[in-house]
Amino acid sequence: MRKLSLLLLATALTATSGGVASAAPTAPPMDLAPYAKGRSQPVQDPVYPAYGNPSIDVLHYGLELGWQPSGRSLTGTATLTVRAVERLSEIRLDFGRALKIDEVTVGGKAVKPRHHKDDLTIPLPAPLAADQGARVVIRYHGVPKPHKSGQRRIDLELLGLRSAADGSAWALQEPFGAFTWFPVNDHPSDEALYDVAITVPKGWAGVSHGKYLGKSEKGREATYRWQSTEPVASYLTLFTADRYRLHRDKGPRGIPITYWTRKEDDRMLRVARGLPDLMRWMEKKAGPYPFPSAGVVATSESGMETQQMIALGGHYMRPRIVLHELAHHWFGNSVGPRTWKDVWLNEGFAMYFEMQWTADHEPGTIEDFMSGLRVREKHMRQEMGPPGDYRRDWFAGSNVYYAPALMLHEIRKQIGDERFFAMTRAWVQEHRNTGQDRASFTAWVNHHTGTDFTALIDAWLDSRTSPES
Ligand SMILES: [Zn+2]
Repeated sequence: MRKLSLLLLATALTATSGGVASAAPTAPPMDLAPYAKGRSQPVQDPVYPAYGNPSIDVLHYGLELGWQPSGRSLTGTATLTVRAVERLSEIRLDFGRALKIDEVTVGGKAVKPRHHKDDLTIPLPAPLAADQGARVVIRYHGVPKPHKSGQRRIDLELLGLRSAADGSAWALQEPFGAFTWFPVNDHPSDEALYDVAITVPKGWAGVSHGKYLGKSEKGREATYRWQSTEPVASYLTLFTADRYRLHRDKGPRGIPITYWTRKEDDRMLRVARGLPDLMRWMEKKAGPYPFPSAGVVATSESGMETQQMIALGGHYMRPRIVLHELAHHWFGNSVGPRTWKDVWLNEGFAMYFEMQWTADHEPGTIEDFMSGLRVREKHMRQEMGPPGDYRRDWFAGSNVYYAPALMLHEIRKQIGDERFFAMTRAWVQEHRNTGQDRASFTAWVNHHTGTDFTALIDAWLDSRTSPES
């Protein structure tokens, strides 16, 4: 609907000017070259179309955030470098209704935005032509509220920023919910670069996605700085504030690692310190770790592959789950799904590598683990729908983990171990920092193996009943 109305508007402008193409003058061009790595081709989501905006491509987010534990409140200045995908007279972003806007400027000029429910619409002082850029600065404050998702998976009932009575806060959000703490094009097809600064009272720490650049102190406050030089999808962003202690480590090839745990988190820290070994195991199987830093932060619940800083609650802090979230850095974070229709591309691979790691380190073979998945997969497919067309209130149900892992195992049995792992390594190497879907995955597998796996892949993803092997 949005794209159509803009098209009609453009046509009307051309028509009233008597056939001469002289629509309103556009904004002066802005140099977008420094942000080339943040360039994406956003699309509308077929499963959750209410989030994300395919008419814009955010190249970079500069987030200056302040967290006040006593009031559990947030202040923010978000500087977005936006590329227009088509001619635009306004920019619509996802932004939580609980937060209040203080000021918005576009290219330094103050504008009056409209904030309705979780949509923020910003009028442009001059229209943007397709491929032109604008710098949008949004100042805001408030007490963030998580989004009630209506999802059946219990740890996804609330999405986005949550806080506890002690003032600690953490934001995890898949498939969407970053809009509860910053204005965002909240869709995996629009990846962007980030600079994040989190200011907290001294004694607290603010942890985000990307590489830790260090902290500075001023008066009673400390500011923690983070940078992502590889593109990040909004669901992989991270905000946490707690009384963390920093522990440093090194991964393969000297990759810097930071662990962020509270003083009572001894057990969690011991598990987190296994990360370099897990990275070495993954590198043998899937090729070089695709990011310039890594880390683990102890949060209050759930487990998430937030980019370059895995977030895990106490129940989830186990080597096998750290491995799963780490595997996502190849399968999901580096090569991601273009839309939520293909979340199986994330979870199938991560589950399969988790199973292989378990088979290599604990009693039982990969065949034993796959037989176990097979028994349970049948029921999940009925309850949650097939993994390629799941029920939309069953996001990230076990069906999108188990069935695609079994599908990968079937392909492995047909082509042999060596060719299978060479293929998975090449999938990441050749598609680094891109979004993919079923069609591109299937075409690539067929081309790479010289065998037509289309029917096998479609059966595992679409069938209402489990395929027989
Ligand atoms: Zn996963």
